[in-house]
Amino acid sequence: MPLMTAGEYLDSLRRMKPTVYILGERVDSPTEDPHIRASINATAATYELAFDQEYRHIALVESPLTGGMINRFNHVASSIEDLVARVKINRVLGQRVGTCFQRCTGLDGLSALSITTYNMDRRYGTQYHQRFLGFLRYMQENDYSGHIAVTDVKGDRSKRPHQQADPDLYLRVVERNEDGIVVRGAKAHQTGSLNSHETIVLPTTALQEADTDYAVAFSIPVDTPGLVHIYGRGTLDSREVEGVDLGNCFYGKYCTLVVFDDVFVPWDRVFMCGEWEFAGEMVSRFSSYHRQSHGGCKSGLLDVVSGAAYTMAEYNGTAKVSHIREKLTDIIHRAETIYACTLASSYEGHREPSGTYAVNSVLANAAKIHEGRDLVEAMRLLLDIAGGLVGTMPSELDLQNPATGAFLEKYLKGVEGVQTRDRMRMFRLVEKLAMESRDLVSAVHGGGSPQAHRLTILRETDLEAKARLARRLAGIQDGPSPGLAPGVRP
Ligand code: SF4
Repeated sequence: MPLMTAGEYLDSLRRMKPTVYILGERVDSPTEDPHIRASINATAATYELAFDQEYRHIALVESPLTGGMINRFNHVASSIEDLVARVKINRVLGQRVGTCFQRCTGLDGLSALSITTYNMDRRYGTQYHQRFLGFLRYMQENDYSGHIAVTDVKGDRSKRPHQQADPDLYLRVVERNEDGIVVRGAKAHQTGSLNSHETIVLPTTALQEADTDYAVAFSIPVDTPGLVHIYGRGTLDSREVEGVDLGNCFYGKYCTLVVFDDVFVPWDRVFMCGEWEFAGEMVSRFSSYHRQSHGGCKSGLLDVVSGAAYTMAEYNGTAKVSHIREKLTDIIHRAETIYACTLASSYEGHREPSGTYAVNSVLANAAKIHEGRDLVEAMRLLLDIAGGLVGTMPSELDLQNPATGAFLEKYLKGVEGVQTRDRMRMFRLVEKLAMESRDLVSAVHGGGSPQAHRLTILRETDLEAKARLARRLAGIQDGPSPGLAPGVRP
């Protein structure tokens, strides 16, 4: 059966030999490194769920390709029910790990490829979709994880890829030969690149004809020669090495900068090469899927946030205070609003010509706008409820030290019946939830920056149709809005 246990997943990563640098040092065994290990635990939760009787019904699905049962994180949606299940499993996992579990980006990339490779073949008579299906089968049969490499480093943001002073600031094809292509560039914010087996690359933006070399999509193993993973620091990552005051004792997240230093990609792994007209479609399909994914995982994360806020209030003796209860309500309704929007984007999804089901992108982007704003606001409320010790708490090492332990036991005690150590640990979890840079920034910029969500909503909304509704009620004779040709969307 093509399903790995969490242990088999870990062993499969150990067999890989990626080129990795962490804090200035080359690291030969990243799976054993404390900076990476908690993150691997989070991705491993997606493997554990497939063997959990309570969740197997959403964690597993029959593959239309292989006919076997596979992990949902390698299943491209073939129904509305599949789209809904993606959200539900993400909420469960968000609750379970309290951070990013890093396996959705690969699924969202596979989903985008399944639609756009088909559309490219219809236009150009290319063979990308068959290649893609071969790759998808490989991922399913091996139960592999992919991470998506979309975001180029971009250099001067006012310039197109081909206009950059250094042409490598967007990933590009530098050589084509009969065996494949050679690519050069770098992709930023690579969530869980070392928790994955495959690096799946998509273009980062819509392109013009002069950007043809930048229109490239492919997948390669994360330990392909020339691929260099450089670890990105987080605010609390020294705690992982020290092994105390972790906040979240089990799970974590990191991101890397991945450099493609003249990397060879064989043709059977190339899913776009020069079709610049489809670069925008590919990235926007990925983004819509990923914004939907975010709605699931972040509503699960907010369940942990409301749980931490409530526990903190109980430990502090403030759980019955009216303004605290109001603030708890404000956290809860934010979680449910994000979840509702994301579910709606699934129920309002549709079938594409390739047979893949796509989410409603306006609703998925609306969910993401709520997330970017409301998740940060929920963290503010969490800090408000917990209190200032989130930022000034002595270490658990001080609790263990005979010279200071008795002082902390006495002066950091909350209500009767709660151990001081437990209260300290809950403060640490609050610190991790609210102040760990990678999770917080992910709420704002993950799946694309806030303005991208707004632009998508405006681009994909028929404002002229809405204007007709208003004109009819106002008794204005129907016709196009001044300055707009009929059917033209602003
Ligand atoms: Fe998945 Fe993105 Fe959420 Fe991480 S932040 S769990 S990759 S949707």
